[in-house]
Amino acid sequence: MQYLNPDNTHSVKEALDLTSKRWKIDKQIYDLHLGKRDDVTDSAVIVDGVTFHIPMLSREGLYVLWKCLWPECHNCCDRQGRLPLTVDDIHTIAKKMGYESRSTFIRNETVISSWQEHEAFANIITNLSMLSLKRKQNEREEDDGTPIPCRFLDEKGYCGIHPDKPGVCWLYPFASWLEADSNGRAVVHATFQLTGDCPGFYLNSALEDMMPVLKEYSKKIYDYNMATCRTSRENYSSISMVDLKKDYSQELPENKNRSSNQAMN
Ligand code: SF4
Ligand code: SF4
Repeated sequence: MQYLNPDNTHSVKEALDLTSKRWKIDKQIYDLHLGKRDDVTDSAVIVDGVTFHIPMLSREGLYVLWKCLWPECHNCCDRQGRLPLTVDDIHTIAKKMGYESRSTFIRNETVISSWQEHEAFANIITNLSMLSLKRKQNEREEDDGTPIPCRFLDEKGYCGIHPDKPGVCWLYPFASWLEADSNGRAVVHATFQLTGDCPGFYLNSALEDMMPVLKEYSKKIYDYNMATCRTSRENYSSISMVDLKKDYSQELPENKNRSSNQAMN
């Protein structure tokens, strides 16, 4: 199968070429980003309630794994596309930035972002509209999705609002979403966002190499999805989804709510 939304390939190639100037990117990983691999299979691994969809390149029998290269790398903060906020983020970051009033924080420090996502390994298109933390003081809605250096990044690669940074900053480069299983229960899924900005992907014949990372991220991803649901319930965001596998002649059950965090770039 092809791993990438083909509409995205132009900006992904630009990002990959920029990343390649500083980091070595395997040819197979480069091609995977651009949807040029037709042998990608989904290796689903369940870790603490989160189903991770790890790509495997069948011809070589290699998994695509990831580890973060920070502090040598801080590309995801240098080329930040948007910082959507959950309701928990709004509380935490408003306080961190010294705001007593949440509405003043929202008025001064956020913009509205609206975008669409199409997850690899899922037949789902999601439309999202969320409040996003401004990445620069004078950010406007038209800047949404354009990669710029985040204003909280310092010259040494540290985040000025860590550990109170937005949930999406903790999750990158994972994308995640909620989907109902055959019994109607919500299940959290996650896979990689292949935006071209992250040099941390590598190939390995053993998936076990990445288990400690999956263990660490499963809780963050699970909690983030719950926070995203609360955000929607409390009307701080609007999320709608189209399940391409679904027969829409039947009514959607209420608990088929879904959220996604594929938002950073
Ligand atoms: S771009 Fe990737 S490797 Fe670099 S800091 Fe971000 S997550 Fe880590
Ligand atoms: S808020 Fe912090 S972690 Fe997030 S993009 Fe900005 S500098 Fe990076």
